[in-house]
Amino acid sequence: MVYLTGAGPGDIELLTIKALKVIKKADVIIFDRLSNPDILKEAKNGCEFVYVGKEDGHHIMPQDEINETIFQNSLKHDTIVRLKGGDPFVFGRGGEEGGYLRSKNVKFEIIPGITSAISVPAYAGIPVTHRGVAVSFRVITGHESPNKKASQIDWESFKGDDTLVFLMGLHNLAKISKRLMAIGKPKDFPCAVISRGTTKEQKTVVGTLENIVELAKNLPTPALIVVGKVIELRRELKWFES
Ligand code: SAH
Repeated sequence: MVYLTGAGPGDIELLTIKALKVIKKADVIIFDRLSNPDILKEAKNGCEFVYVGKEDGHHIMPQDEINETIFQNSLKHDTIVRLKGGDPFVFGRGGEEGGYLRSKNVKFEIIPGITSAISVPAYAGIPVTHRGVAVSFRVITGHESPNKKASQIDWESFKGDDTLVFLMGLHNLAKISKRLMAIGKPKDFPCAVISRGTTKEQKTVVGTLENIVELAKNLPTPALIVVGKVIELRRELKWFES
């Protein structure tokens, strides 16, 4: 059995009970750069570890090789854990891995994880929805350049009050903020960047679409971008960094 398992955003205590159970019984754990490598210490003696590194959407190992690695391990072992940061189906390519296993008649289960998209803002004191402020939120890839001609992202649809959460977007922050101003968001619209969320190194900078690039200049990855009026609630709700 292959468990496509979410590791949560960083804080090891945000791992689910179900994930911890399969990690403890795994014969092999296939992982990328994890938010928290301490999770591997929970594995039993003799458990094998296979690193299929992947950083911020840049693959060190191509996805089809990762798929094949999981499949090959399923021929040798009973319990295979494929561990992924956050949730396996939120920009985690868990769907592709599941599809490949299905095509090879390998049994799998999905163990959802706490996605960084919600939990990292929460640790920064930013609720992604709030009555009267934002009635919905969107999670968007920031990996794609906003200037790309054949973009799959409908930028015009971000004109409303949805909270916007961009993952994998730190290197495109200047282009993203510019594009949001170009669709009509005010220059002083709230924007935050949260780096290494839910860990001891968590850092949050809060600014506006106009000055966020300057403020976030030296922040390390992984980091996500939040855009929306909910950011103002952080003044009252900030807790983890206090
Ligand atoms: N499946 C993951 C997301 C994978 S994409 C999930 O559900 O969380 C990787 C991106 O997630 C990073 O580029 C960053 O934008 C975000 N991310 C993951 N962990 C993070 C953390 N601890 N702090 C800030 N951003 C994080």
